Amino acid sequence: MRKKSICTVCGYIGQPDTVTKGSLFLEVFLWGLAICSFFLLVPVLIAIFYSHWRSTTRQRICPKCGNSAMIPEDTPVGRELMKRLESDIERENEEDYKIYIHNLLIKIENQFTTPNKM
Ligand SMILES: [Zn+2]
Repeated sequence: MRKKSICTVCGYIGQPDTVTKGSLFLEVFLWGLAICSFFLLVPVLIAIFYSHWRSTTRQRICPKCGNSAMIPEDTPVGRELMKRLESDIERENEEDYKIYIHNLLIKIENQFTTPNKM
């Protein structure tokens, strides 16, 4: 079972969409080139770098608002946000709700990042 994530912009809860930069076509082409060149060093290196770059720039975006601000439900901030959203039944309108989540997130982040004062 895949873990749920929560969007810190619009409050959407569910599976994030995965977006990868670059193109699969180019990646396949580069690997094809590497194979056709009988694994010469340079084409192989280019193919490896391109594949690596694509895998490291993969982003999880919110399917509802398109922001890359989705955090997993099982992180401290995600858990806290989820808990508070669940207890908050009234959702007046979209705009108020976004502001509400934004403020909530700042509050939760402060709670986790503020060091204890001596
Ligand atoms: Zn969203």
